[in-house]
Amino acid sequence: MSLTAGVIAVQGDVAEHAGAIERATTRHGKRVEVREIRTAGVVPDCDLLAMPGGESTAISRLLHREGIAPEVVDHVAAGKPLLATCAGLIVAARDAGDPRVESLGLIDVTVDRNAFGRQVDSFETHLDVSGLAKPFPAVFIRAPRIAEVGEGVEVLAEHDGQVVAVRDPPVVATAFHPELTDDSSVHDLAFFGRV
Ligand code: GLN
Repeated sequence: MSLTAGVIAVQGDVAEHAGAIERATTRHGKRVEVREIRTAGVVPDCDLLAMPGGESTAISRLLHREGIAPEVVDHVAAGKPLLATCAGLIVAARDAGDPRVESLGLIDVTVDRNAFGRQVDSFETHLDVSGLAKPFPAVFIRAPRIAEVGEGVEVLAEHDGQVVAVRDPPVVATAFHPELTDDSSVHDLAFFGRV
């Protein structure tokens, strides 16, 4: 069976997610066509979606301007998987904690933008992620912190006492960048429920 995957491509890390999606789907014995989403009308054809890191103010503004935002809301309401990473997590949150971000309310969490410091404070660490057999090499770049976690939201990982990955089905969201390493196991978890 061939899947159609979409990567929100209005701004941010697009090619890296496309590569990780291809590796994850191949591991699960499926073929995939990855489409980059810059305009309305593509999301309804997608079986799974990734919303990348970048700049959450720009991503949310462009999603609304292009009419993509309601399509992403419908995708999640239909129970189809979404992986939201870093700025994508901020846009997917119930409350982004910043009036310049019109978040989509796809996951019942609030976030604090840039809680782990400025660009120079970017770092990599090995994280224990629930559902993964081995520690995941997590790259944090001006990452948000997940502040409040609603009922029904599963915490998948913490770093220094802060929540940095959650699952609120059908959404998996991470404060870090799982697309920036060769390890596609977070994509496996988000799209296939297992590695
Ligand atoms: N700091 C960015 C924001 O708040 C997110 C950074 C990222 O996606 N790497 O939008």
